This record gives sequence, structure tokens and C-alpha cells, in this order.
Amino acid sequence: MVRVRFAPSPTGSLHIGGARTCLFNWLYARAKKGRFVLRIEDTDKLRSKKEYLDEILDSLNWLGLKWDEIYYQGQRFALYREYAEKLLKSGAAYIERSEGNKEAVIFKVNPQKIKIRDLIRGDIEFEAESIKDQVLIKSDGTPTYNFACVVDDATTDITHVIRGDDHISNTPKQVLLYNALGFALPEFAHLPLILGSEGGRLSKRTGATSIGDYRKMGYLAQALVNYLLLLSWSPGSNREIIGIDEAMQIFDIKDVNKTAATFNLDKLNWVNNQYLKKENAQKLADAVIPLLIERQYIREGDFDRNYIVALLKLFQARLARINDFLDWADFFFVEDVQIDPQAQKKHLGADLSREFRMFINRLDGLKEFELQTIETSFREMVKELGIEAKALIHPIRVALTGKTVGPGLFEVIYYLGRERTKQRLMRWVSST
Ligand code: GLU
Repeated sequence: MVRVRFAPSPTGSLHIGGARTCLFNWLYARAKKGRFVLRIEDTDKLRSKKEYLDEILDSLNWLGLKWDEIYYQGQRFALYREYAEKLLKSGAAYIERSEGNKEAVIFKVNPQKIKIRDLIRGDIEFEAESIKDQVLIKSDGTPTYNFACVVDDATTDITHVIRGDDHISNTPKQVLLYNALGFALPEFAHLPLILGSEGGRLSKRTGATSIGDYRKMGYLAQALVNYLLLLSWSPGSNREIIGIDEAMQIFDIKDVNKTAATFNLDKLNWVNNQYLKKENAQKLADAVIPLLIERQYIREGDFDRNYIVALLKLFQARLARINDFLDWADFFFVEDVQIDPQAQKKHLGADLSREFRMFINRLDGLKEFELQTIETSFREMVKELGIEAKALIHPIRVALTGKTVGPGLFEVIYYLGRERTKQRLMRWVSST
């Protein structure tokens, strides 16, 4: 049975790279009806933090990457000690004493060529001259990464080690340890690097944002998972939108690309928009309501949920992130609308008092304040005035929303309501 693991260190948040490694492991386990093991590499007591652990587990849960088993290296020190003793007994390791009579266990490395088979990159050869004797247990009693990793992978029956390319230089060292301990080798697969949007390593500026932050910014978990899938894998025939359930059926680690992937925020936004468009507006409302409360756009227990759902529907097709709604739809929630100065100059520079007053009168005269009646009345008016509709549509939009883009003007008027529309137009009507 296939058994794979994801082995984060709780010394930082979960980022794009780690999340992709986790996803590919998880998918492979699901595709092969195997088991997915989570291993917390918390041997570094100083740098490991409970907050990071919680955040990592939270992010994995949010992404839908549930684990079948979980291990904490911090609870397995006795096991590492036991295997170190074995190597000492067989003569493969020796003890090095340091000041204060502290003992470290060191693994003896004999120069040799090491060949590994990588499921993604093919055969890779390492000259072992470059590999020095390796510390297994440090003088403070903690195991090193390579040693704990091998002991754990072997004793939890991991069949496939799927991890980032940055670990490739560790693999020959680990192979030596497998051999010395008499463990069978697992298969290895090293996932290609993810470059930042400007080439080079992912940095804060080029996409190294934590999964938790993407969540806060209003990305949907399914969209993020879909995007991660596209980093070095593809469902074929130029498809880009694929759900995790389908990916689970067809994913194979052998199909992962060798070449580095590049993080592209525009692409992520595009993928997220594809999902947001189709999302149930009620569900979006669940996500957006707490944010609206936080921004004090609405008050807890004192808002019309149906109204928010209706507004969401107006913006949904264009949202790249749920949070865009807060910025784009602000004018429905605040009375003191911020007018974009450029837009004001362009569309409200001329005196439109007469036109605005006429429109206000028409709105007042409407028996039924409905989308259709608003639009008909507006169209009649511009016809009467002998002007083009857009000569008034843009100024009215800017006066009502503060922006040049947004949903259809008649929808804006309808959902703002008669009184608020009139008030906002009146601000641009001179008293003379
Ligand atoms: N804790 C290591 C890391 O976060 C795990 C490496 C591995 O998968 O072997 O990079």
C-alpha cells in the first residue's frame, strides 16, 4: 500500500511551496488508495512554536487536506536514540565528546558513488566525496533532520518520499543511512522549485504569502488548491480548471514536470474568479458578512442578509477575491462616499445641476421604484434632452458610487434606493 507523508517544521507558516508539496502527497495517496501521514518535525525546540503548528494544521484543514495519521518527532526521541545505538554497535557510527563531556553520535561516511532514482527527475548520481561524516544525534540530545527523517520514514513504512527540490542534496545522505540501518529504500520524487513572479526565489513581494493570509484576503480553498495543482502538473489538453475530486482520479507523481514552476498572482486571481463566479451567493454571504461587520459596514444582528446576497450577485462575476467586494461595494454601506478625484474631474467637472434635478424629479415621480421603471424613465429623459445616455450615465455613476466602474447603473440606483440616490445627486446640484 502506498504511504506518503508531508513533514512540515512548525517554525513558520505554511506557504505556497509547502502547500503544494502537501497537496501532491495527499493526491498521490488518494489516487493510489493509500495513506497520507502528517509528520510534525518539531525537533528544534527553540524555533518550533505552537502558533505555527496550529496555523499549519488550520491551513491544511481549510484546504481540505486531511491526514490519516499524525506523528510528532518531539515525541520520538527514544526511537532515534535506539537506532543511533544500533549504528554505534555495528560500528557505523562513533561518539564524539565535546566540552563538558557532552556526547554527539556521528555517522561514518565512506566515499562512494550514490545513485538515486527519482520518479520525476530520473536517475541522479552523487559523488560521495562531497559528503562528510554526519551528525546523527547532537550533543544536546536532539536528532538531526536527516537522521530523524530516515528513522521516521522507515518505521512508519513510507513508500514514497515526495518533497521539494531543495532537499535533493539530503537524499544521498539519507540513502546511506537507510543502507546502514538495513532499511529498504522508498521511492523518491523531488518536486521542482516554485519561482517568484519575477524569477528567483519566492519572496514576500513575489508571492511568498502564507496560506492563512490568502484565506484572509478572500481566496477560496478550492481555487487555491486548483491553482497549486497547476504548479508543475496539468490535467492535460490545456485545461486549467479542475476540482480536487477529479484530480484525485487522474493524478500521478510521474506526470509532474521537471522544470521549475513560476508563481503568478494574476493566474491565481483568474482561477479564484472562476470559482467565485460559480459560488453560491448565500455561501459567499457567509464569508463576507463577518468582514462587513469588521469594517463596520453593517452591525451584527442588524442587517438585511437578503440585501447583501443581492449585492454580492451584482459583483460576483468580476470578483477576483472575496475582499474585492468590500472595496468595490463600499458605497452601498457608507454614506460619505469617497469620490475618486480623477473621476470627479473627468465626469463631474461640468455643472449638471439641471440634468440631475430633472432626474431627481423623475425618480420622485415613479410610482413603482423598480429596475425597469428607473431605466425607462432615464432613457425617456435623455431622449427628451437630446443627449447621449452615456453623457449622464458616467456622471451619475461617479456621484453615486465615487467610481467609474461597477455594476449596471440602474442596479446601483435600485439597490441604493430612492432616497440615498436623490441625496447623493443633490450634492452636485447648485442652489442657484
Ligand atoms: N521538515 C522538512 C521541511 O519542512 C521536511 C523535509 C522532508 O520532507 O523530508 O522541509
